[in-house]
Amino acid sequence: MANDGQLMDKLVSLCKRRGFIFQSSEIYGGTGSVWDYGPLGVELQRNVKEAWWRAMVHERDDIEGLDAAILMHPRVWEASGHVAGFTDPLVDCKACKARFRADQLEESSCPRKPSKHPGEHGDCELTEPRLFNLMFKTFMGPVEDAAAVVYLRPETAQGSYVNFQNVLNSGRQRIPFGIAQIGKAFRNEITPGNFIFRTREFEQMEMQFFVEPGSDEEWFEYWKAKRMEWMHGLGLSPERLRFHEHGPNELAHYAKRAFDIQYEFPFGWSEFEGVHNRTDFDLRRHQEYSGKKLEYVDPVDRNKRYLPYVIETAIGVGRTVLAVLADAYHEEEVEGENRVVMRLHPRLAPTKVAVFPLVRKDDMPELAEKLQRELRAAGVPSFFDDSGSIGRRYRRQDEAGTPFGITVDGQSVADGTVTIRHRDTLRQDRIDATQTVAYVRDLIR
Ligand code: ATP
Repeated sequence: MANDGQLMDKLVSLCKRRGFIFQSSEIYGGTGSVWDYGPLGVELQRNVKEAWWRAMVHERDDIEGLDAAILMHPRVWEASGHVAGFTDPLVDCKACKARFRADQLEESSCPRKPSKHPGEHGDCELTEPRLFNLMFKTFMGPVEDAAAVVYLRPETAQGSYVNFQNVLNSGRQRIPFGIAQIGKAFRNEITPGNFIFRTREFEQMEMQFFVEPGSDEEWFEYWKAKRMEWMHGLGLSPERLRFHEHGPNELAHYAKRAFDIQYEFPFGWSEFEGVHNRTDFDLRRHQEYSGKKLEYVDPVDRNKRYLPYVIETAIGVGRTVLAVLADAYHEEEVEGENRVVMRLHPRLAPTKVAVFPLVRKDDMPELAEKLQRELRAAGVPSFFDDSGSIGRRYRRQDEAGTPFGITVDGQSVADGTVTIRHRDTLRQDRIDATQTVAYVRDLIR
């Protein structure tokens, strides 16, 4: 599938057609690399976040949730190293005016001659690399001066570090324990792109796990395995997932060890999630910059005090949505006709069940509407469709990734049974209409 530009184009157009993802401010010509999630996209995105929250918070007693603010004290970003070091090297081409990341020239192509890399075409005139800080700056309050500068956070992690003591004490936790957050982050990326893969505004799902120094390597292995397991649980193809260890040149300034989990996106293998051993770098720096003690005191042996090490798992919501969409996309032939089907895991699918009266008469619409009301009352996202041939209605739902379709036909009116069609296998079962809610609920759990 690598470098399948066609698949990417098909995905982008399906996303627009079916209401998953739209370009931001499209009627004004669009805003570069910013995307809006439409009616189906927002449901898919919520289901992804819910799956993460469930695995990382609700199913565990050693992780607490947090929702820290986007705007933080500016000193936070000095302590974290972002003001001084959150930079990418940027080069401009004076000939074609394009911008590139100096460390990614090999993966970029020259706009004038796409088969060549920037700098390789006779006309290219690349500048020397300049460092460019990726943080968005803005001003707090009415005066736009240096004293009022604040940043839009480039990661959620710092909110967890500065709240370490608050969560520890209020949650009555003991080490080892973690803090999980889902929230927006902003990076003024030099070369955003590949649809929702790299954007300037995005959402992260990050978890910081605080451990006793010395146990960090064991926990690092634990979280690597756990996170891969989670991805398999989303239904992603195992052969499109792999680990990539950061070599000495890739390691961030705070990291002792780091692994990316990569997914084979249509444009090639790329980072999807990072698992990092951040040592005590962050707590040490915040202790130093804030002047507040951030040590952990062992409740049993009060002489044992230390700054915990942090194992971080950091994944983007958008990248997860893109991987899920790319993995789900299938084209196949059914009874001599082509169909596009999104094989989304039922737990992630935006709409769980579509309800179709076979024709608009003979009490079928009323029975179908009654069924849909029951589904709605039970909190099962459903969709009612009575327009067009039944085949076309199935196709529309296949593209939306709806796992089940319920058809109300003449027999339903006579004996109270309906057919339920399974999106992937096309199997059709006839069940009692009164069993529908329980049947569907069982399959989407
Ligand atoms: P990359 O090397 O791709 O820039 P990174 O190593 O800087 O990513 P982290 O800082 O580890 O990324 O952020 C954790 C996760 O947040 C990434 O694995 C990715 O899923 C997501 N992420 C980071 N930057 C972006 C972005 N610009 N757009 C969308 N998601 C992002």
